[in-house]
Amino acid sequence: LCALSKRFTLGGGLFKRGRALQAVSEVSLAIPRGQVMGLVGESGCGKSTLAKMLLGLTTPSAGEVRVDGRPLGDAGQKALARHIQPIFQDPYSSLNPRKRVAAIVELPLRVHGIGTPRERARRVAETLDLVGLPKRAAEQFPGQLSGGQRQRVAIARALIMRPDIVICDEPTSALDVSVQAQILNLLLDLKQEFGLTYLFISHDLAVVEHLVDRVAVMYLGRIVEEGSREQIFAAPRHPYTQALLASALTPEPGLGVPDIGLGDVMPDPSNPPSGCAFHPRCPKAQALCRETRPALVTDTAGATRVACHFASA
Ligand code: SF4
Ligand code: MG
Repeated sequence: LCALSKRFTLGGGLFKRGRALQAVSEVSLAIPRGQVMGLVGESGCGKSTLAKMLLGLTTPSAGEVRVDGRPLGDAGQKALARHIQPIFQDPYSSLNPRKRVAAIVELPLRVHGIGTPRERARRVAETLDLVGLPKRAAEQFPGQLSGGQRQRVAIARALIMRPDIVICDEPTSALDVSVQAQILNLLLDLKQEFGLTYLFISHDLAVVEHLVDRVAVMYLGRIVEEGSREQIFAAPRHPYTQALLASALTPEPGLGVPDIGLGDVMPDPSNPPSGCAFHPRCPKAQALCRETRPALVTDTAGATRVACHFASA
């Protein structure tokens, strides 16, 4: 049932002004098969670093990725790609401009030596149809397509591998608002049809509200709250989640970095505040918060996790 659990401490490879940047710390996340987990936080909180580790594009300094309880680490990146596929924010830069759409979508099959050329061509045609692209798109170049069509190509490329998990990293934030809803609906339809599991990354709670089953909220590289959609949206327990939610209710959702109403910009991740890293911005902070970091505690029902000394009930 549990599709993925992981624990990371990333140090070694990432440096910023000479100091080790702890981009993601001891994040453990289990995504039940067939569900959508939203991963939400401001830009720079480590969401994309986490996604890159899941995709094998960055090596965690500790921890592992598991699918159905099996660690993927030893299997290498090629095996990882069979299980986990990405859809990135920017369809402009993630598609090779010199390749035709059919070749772009076929590439993962070729890399993994799947099927004969004829079988691959059939699967490409089927998949393009699935994501709502017209037949002629197969012979076009990315530059001839609209932003929404390009994101459909990226979705087709991810789905052609029949992955267990699709990592969607801000997949609609580069698109016009009118196109965003179409792409989100397409992702939902595909999830229902194929029983896909998504990790859906966004800086904006409003974007994930209609998609997710569960939400994990990240702040400065750590998960500060995790719960069901109902709980997070109706009764958020962490002050940071409460601030994010308040900002998501302001107009123009999905455009740029939200002003989360806490004045301050996010602290330097290479030099995080003592105790609870959120304390300089937290309206509920007390002396204890500066000294002691709150553990991520699971509630008695086992339904939510929250890291705050003074979490709301
Ligand atoms: Fe705020 Fe303290 Fe809770 Fe951190 S531990 S979120 S500073 S109340
Ligand atoms: Mg990002």
